[in-house]
Amino acid sequence: MIESLMRLQWMLDLSMKTFDHVAQSRRLPLNLVLMTIVCSSVVRTGESAEPVRVGFGTADITPTLTPERPVWVAGIGPNNLAKQIHTRLNADAIYLDDGTTSIAFVSVDLIGLQHDAVKRLRKRLEQVDYACVSSTHTHASPDVIGIWGPSRTKTGKDPHYVSFVEDKVVEAVRKARSSAVPAVATYGQVQATELLNDSRRPHVLDDVLRVMIFHRNDADGEPLGILVQWSVHPQSVQGSNRPLSADYCASLRDTLGEVYGCPVVFFIGATGGYMNAVYSEEMKSAGRLGRAELYGQALAEVAKSAIASSEPVDLAPIAVHSRRIALPLANPTFRRFTEIGVLDRELYRWRGRSDLLGEPLAKGESDSFLAIESEVALARIGEIPVCLIPGEIYPELVYGGIVQPPDPRFDFPDAPAEPNITSLLGTQRFLLFGLANDEVGYIIPKCQWDDRRPYGFNGTSTYGERMSVGPDVAPIVLKAFEDCARSLKAEQQP
Ligand SMILES: [Zn+2]
Repeated sequence: MIESLMRLQWMLDLSMKTFDHVAQSRRLPLNLVLMTIVCSSVVRTGESAEPVRVGFGTADITPTLTPERPVWVAGIGPNNLAKQIHTRLNADAIYLDDGTTSIAFVSVDLIGLQHDAVKRLRKRLEQVDYACVSSTHTHASPDVIGIWGPSRTKTGKDPHYVSFVEDKVVEAVRKARSSAVPAVATYGQVQATELLNDSRRPHVLDDVLRVMIFHRNDADGEPLGILVQWSVHPQSVQGSNRPLSADYCASLRDTLGEVYGCPVVFFIGATGGYMNAVYSEEMKSAGRLGRAELYGQALAEVAKSAIASSEPVDLAPIAVHSRRIALPLANPTFRRFTEIGVLDRELYRWRGRSDLLGEPLAKGESDSFLAIESEVALARIGEIPVCLIPGEIYPELVYGGIVQPPDPRFDFPDAPAEPNITSLLGTQRFLLFGLANDEVGYIIPKCQWDDRRPYGFNGTSTYGERMSVGPDVAPIVLKAFEDCARSLKAEQQP
């Protein structure tokens, strides 16, 4: 009896953490919330009797280009006014429901939608237990962060556009939900080392292209839709007359979609380090727009072979374990940007703990110890774990390969190496969505952080550190992920 009570308490603790924001978004009275949490946790650990239902939905998030509302292109530098539309920008959603728990994964063709926008739109998705919005990180999209405006001191973020994106994400999820039908799926992965490079030592690539293809669970078994995950920065069109474009993601989606006659949703993976494209001679000679097209087509071929060798996977149960985290805002440039309103994001007092968010700061208020709120999660689609990482994670943190011992010229050579995601999951078969529910910039192993002279083996000041919230992001993200992985393992035990 005591043991079962302890187990119930343990499950309650676990569930409160796990479904924290689900409960918040539904605004249920606390006692009802606790009941719901306990029940859902119990049911989720068993086999669902119903078949998993899956649906796809899409919405167009391309802004209108008018002189009245300038659109600043993110990802290059300041003062890049959008001049043309190369491809449409999408919000693509997949909805999965096992009869007990429902999840929507949404991919948006943006540089990095921020967490406050995700929190707002979740409140409107009351019929979905958990929604994840991941940005493809295309470097030819409107600035939704603020740091690519007309100058270094003026924001490039248009709040009207961000709220338009929120509307469209909600629309895409509703479409996906209303079209959901019983489904089966297969999972496959293929290494494509020749298509990417790492711009920074150590040389660790995320060169695995991962796919899931979903079919109707009926006599015809028509394809319903495809998820593809690949880790290369979408910046093939960058610099060519300031277009808005989904970059290579568009031609990857179009090419695969035509072959299988179904929607394709692209998610970016572990893009830190950073992962950049390697182009063939043909791609190089095709110009910037042409190489984006050809690179996407090459990836579609890889995806086809991953699908050809894919194997059936169970889709139930659907579950998610998430952790809200506080990240200390250490980057001096980002701090300055928050003071002058270029970076417009909710700020909190840093309380010295990543699991404790301090009081929110009022607009214009400052503090020596600032934090931002973010989230790490681990979902599961049946037997496939889906890692939801809020930024651009270095592949060393996914596969291992952190420099050991660290170069003594690194800034924190004594920091312990973080555990890697593959070993925490205990499987090579997973999906990893970077920029999930946030974009906090690069997530760099702390012992490799190298922002002060003398520089380590990269020999120069490093770009990654300048586009990262700070050196403590990796330890905090990996600790939260480890917690999620532990919860998932506990849930899987009979
Ligand atoms: Zn990037």
